[in-house]
Amino acid sequence: MNASAQKLLDRIEAKREEVTALTQELVRIPTVNPPGDAYEACAHFIGERLSKKGFAVEYVRAIGAPGDSDSHPRTNVVARWQGGSTGECVHFNSHIDVVEAGSGWTYEPFGGQVANGRVYGRGTCDMKGGLASSIIACEALIESGLPIPGALEISGTVDEESGGFAGVGYLAERGYFSKPRVHHVIIPEPLGVDRICLGHRGVWWGEVETRGRIAHGSMPFLGDSAINHMSAFIHLLETQLQPRLEGRHTAEPVEPPGARVSTLNINSIHGGQVEQHYANDARGWPTAQTPAPVVAHSCRTVLDRRFIAEENLEAVKQEIIDMLDELKRTRPGFDYGIRDIMSFVPTATPKDAPVVDATARAIARVLGREPSYIASPGTYDQKHIVRTGKLQDCIAYGPGILDLAHQPDEYVGIQELVDSAKIMALASLDLTGWTRLNQA
Ligand SMILES: [Zn+2]
Repeated sequence: MNASAQKLLDRIEAKREEVTALTQELVRIPTVNPPGDAYEACAHFIGERLSKKGFAVEYVRAIGAPGDSDSHPRTNVVARWQGGSTGECVHFNSHIDVVEAGSGWTYEPFGGQVANGRVYGRGTCDMKGGLASSIIACEALIESGLPIPGALEISGTVDEESGGFAGVGYLAERGYFSKPRVHHVIIPEPLGVDRICLGHRGVWWGEVETRGRIAHGSMPFLGDSAINHMSAFIHLLETQLQPRLEGRHTAEPVEPPGARVSTLNINSIHGGQVEQHYANDARGWPTAQTPAPVVAHSCRTVLDRRFIAEENLEAVKQEIIDMLDELKRTRPGFDYGIRDIMSFVPTATPKDAPVVDATARAIARVLGREPSYIASPGTYDQKHIVRTGKLQDCIAYGPGILDLAHQPDEYVGIQELVDSAKIMALASLDLTGWTRLNQA
């Protein structure tokens, strides 16, 4: 570590209040998804700040993408600062959307209140704190006047919480996450200040429909209930598939350790007539239209199957199809349909990849300890960067405690904001090529 790098760390240390204030300002823009509120305001807030610091700023609205409308435009911001042209580009990608506040808060969810050395509010941890740290890291690098040989990019993207198709997915299809534009990507998700997330488990979302035959509900024996057929299928999921999955362990360091197996969540189920909220008034009369007596001819369930690196997508689907076929053979009248909703295979960036190595060395320098390497139980925007952008050199690294994400009284520690900004800045020196050029 030479003197200029130390000066850079001192410069970031002096920005403690600035990174706190920036986190607060971001949290006060209520970018709740769904439906995707205030994206435009948040993108412009980031873009206007960065353009004053010398970044070239682009706003990319995902026209035609799911969820995009004039009332809720899916507006992303991408900012690039070009240093020299011989080095490589480091990109910090943060999603700007947050989930709804929900109940149980003792702090104002969109107030950005500071207490106990923390900033509280929806999105502090997931992941506006990480976004603030990456902005402060890049601004400090630029202000340092060090001859950075490559480029720095910061993006604020939409809809990560709902799949990222109008955000990183949309940008990746347009080359924003590919070489030669970008070489290394750090996603400041709240994995913890000393942990490097290498990738995530795979996911298959699918819909299964069972079919029956409609009849009068007072003579169900004349029909065939799709709900009864679904019940038989769900019984098999619960008694056969789920126990089998619990026994399927991965060697990947997924956190929390409970997710080091395959899992299945039955996300939703719907059969028969459209649900109403039935209630009676003072006379005892129903307040909503009452149901008509019919036997359900269709029942649908949405399955959320998370799979481990040791499994493959085809086998994951086949295992469910085999259960349905077994029911078709053994259960009179059983018929089904199955449909993919979306899928992503597991990703894992190698431990010796440049972005992993640079971040690990920066963690050791700033925190005085070795990082731990983890994988995420759920997917995040890395899936689009790897699959569509074809860029392997990508990790998630950022401040905050993952368990607090989406919870009431979500917070991020101010010390963590500062530490991770330092780590991001040092890693960027390495990845752009500055360190290599400036070592004695
Ligand atoms: Zn997140």
